[in-house]
Amino acid sequence: MNETGLAMLESYFQHQTDLAQKECKMQCPDDCSAPGCRLDEVIVEATLFDLVRLSLVLNTPVSSLFLQHCHLGLQSCEQNLRYHRLLIKLKKPCHFLEKTRCTVHGSKPLACVLFPEYHQIKGLVPELVKAPIFRKFPCLKGDILIPDQRSTALKMLRKMSSREEALSGFFLFETPRYIIDSKPLTKQLKKENPNKQPIALKAYDRLINAKLKPTGLIDSINDKISRLDTRAGMESIFEKLKDDALMKPLLEKRADPEIVYKLKGNSLKRLKRRLHPSEFYYI
Ligand code: SF4
Repeated sequence: MNETGLAMLESYFQHQTDLAQKECKMQCPDDCSAPGCRLDEVIVEATLFDLVRLSLVLNTPVSSLFLQHCHLGLQSCEQNLRYHRLLIKLKKPCHFLEKTRCTVHGSKPLACVLFPEYHQIKGLVPELVKAPIFRKFPCLKGDILIPDQRSTALKMLRKMSSREEALSGFFLFETPRYIIDSKPLTKQLKKENPNKQPIALKAYDRLINAKLKPTGLIDSINDKISRLDTRAGMESIFEKLKDDALMKPLLEKRADPEIVYKLKGNSLKRLKRRLHPSEFYYI
């Protein structure tokens, strides 16, 4: 990347850091054991831009960060449990966690920055705490003070993270949201463990990784991620992020996916399906 390209990328990330720090009144409660950083069931998505930001700060190639700290996994679609989204998740317990402290606090994934204040702003907390897992979160027990300027900053960060998420999906899977028909996976998992109800997400993650290997998708993803080890690769994806003509249709498809993939033997079949994902899924 030339100086200008690198400087632009760094200033983009600096802008995100400034927004993340804006008027922050939130302090993790003393009695918090960091369940969101530890529990498999609480998904923390890492976009490629989260990995690029960490790569620049930690001076570590993006592909190494991906292999050491992340894995491919599934997220359930709340409206229709038959479908799951494929995404990059942080491994749990997160390797960046030291006791209850995040060692990459200033450059952590935007999903970590936004939680839980953005959920409060959007009125999503009552829905969130219906899931037993979130009852372990002391920060969700009362209202958090969020000044207006912080609320605006977090909404801007959410817009940025939506763009990053859509482009990461497109870069890796050629679609901003890669939705999988998980019926065959559920069938196999039920057969393997007839008494296990409900099936843990971890079991889906293990199975989908095994199933995707022979399709070539995992190799293709690893290959694409390693392109981001070079400054030229980082610059190229950043250029795409700024390109509104490319991003607009990606954001539309992200909000309203039309294609679902179904595993058939060692290949993935594209099927036309209309799904309407909610804004956030965490489990
Ligand atoms: S990056 Fe930091 S905040 Fe995010 S899950 Fe890991 S330890 Fe927790």
